[in-house]
Amino acid sequence: MNTFYQMWGTKTPAEALAKIEEQKRKHNYTNPSNLEEQALMLVGEDIYFKLIKGYTEKQWGLQATEIPAFIIRRIPVRLRYDNNYFNDPYQGIPIGGYTAIIEKMLEGIEIQLNTDFLSDKNRFESMAKKIVYTGEIDRYFDYKYGQLDYRSLRFEHQVLENTDNFQGNAVVNYTEREVPYTRIIEHKHFEFGEQKTTVISKEYSEEYKDGTDPYYPINDERNNKLYARYKKLADNKKNIHFGGRLGEYKYYDMDKVIASALSSCESIFNNL
Ligand SMILES: Cc1cc2nc3c(=O)[nH]c(=O)nc-3n(C[C@H](O)[C@H](O)[C@H](O)COP(=O)(O)OP(=O)(O)OC[C@H]3O[C@@H](n4cnc5c(N)ncnc54)[C@H](O)[C@@H]3O)c2cc1C
Repeated sequence: MNTFYQMWGTKTPAEALAKIEEQKRKHNYTNPSNLEEQALMLVGEDIYFKLIKGYTEKQWGLQATEIPAFIIRRIPVRLRYDNNYFNDPYQGIPIGGYTAIIEKMLEGIEIQLNTDFLSDKNRFESMAKKIVYTGEIDRYFDYKYGQLDYRSLRFEHQVLENTDNFQGNAVVNYTEREVPYTRIIEHKHFEFGEQKTTVISKEYSEEYKDGTDPYYPINDERNNKLYARYKKLADNKKNIHFGGRLGEYKYYDMDKVIASALSSCESIFNNL
C-alpha cells in the first residue's frame, strides 16, 4: 500500500485495487507471448514499468519481450501497509549470522574445507554408508545429458569510512534498468550494528560460465526436463541423497531448504 500511495496517491485498498484493474483493462492479450505482455495483463503499466521490467531484465540478462510468458503466471499484490518482502510471521537471521550457527552445529565433527568432493569421488563415496551431496546434480553425473543452466552473481564490496549509515536498511533493491546492480546490502543493519563505518555489497546478476558460482537454477521447460533425466539417475543411487538448491535443481529460500533437510534427514538416517 505504501508503494501504491507513492505511485498514485491511493489511500485505501479499494482505491488501489480499482487503479490496478483500470490499468489491467488496457492490456487484454488473449495469448500473451512473452513476459512483458503477461505482466501488463497481471498488473498494468505503472507497476510493470517502474518495478518489474528493469529488474527482471537485469536478473535474466534478456529483454522482457525475449523471456517466456510462463515465467510469471501471477504477481503477488499485497493490499496492506506492510513493507516486508515476505508474509511470514517470524523473519530474521540467526544471531551472529549463518556461519556462527553452522559452526556450533559442526563442533567436534571432522570437516575438510576447500575440497571438491568430485575430485576424488570414489574415495569419498567409499568412506560412508550414506552420503548427502549438495553440489550440482549435472556435474555429479559428468554432464552426461548436457549442462543445466544457472544464473550467477557478482558482488562488489566497499568499506565506507565516512558514513556509519549508508541506506538505513539491510537491503535496498534497484528496479531501474540503468542502474547496473540489482540491490545493495548494508550488512550492519542485519544486527542493528553501531559501528562507526559501514560495509556495503553491490549485487550484479551475471551469466553463469566456468569459474563463476551457480546461484539460481533456471527452472524453465528445457532445464526442468533435463533435470528430470538426471533425477532418474540420482534415484538409482541408493546410498547418496541429492539435496538442496543444486542437488534438486530448485529455487529454495532458507526456511524451505532447512525444512527439506530436516525431513530428508529423518528418512535417510532413520534406518542406519
Ligand atoms: C544472493 C542470495 C541471496 C539470498 N537471500 C536469501 C534470503 O534473503 N532469504 C532466504 O530465505 N534465502 C535466501 N537465499 C537462498 C538461500 O541462500 C538458499 O536457499 C540456501 O543457501 C540453499 O542451501 P543449500 O544447502 O541447498 O545450498 P548452499 O547453501 O549453496 O550449500 C551447498 C554447499 O555444497 C557445497 N558444494 C557444492 N558442490 C560441492 C563439491 N563438489 N564438493 C564439496 N562441496 C560442494 C557448496 O560449497 C556449499 O557449501 C539467497 C540466495 C542467494 C544466492
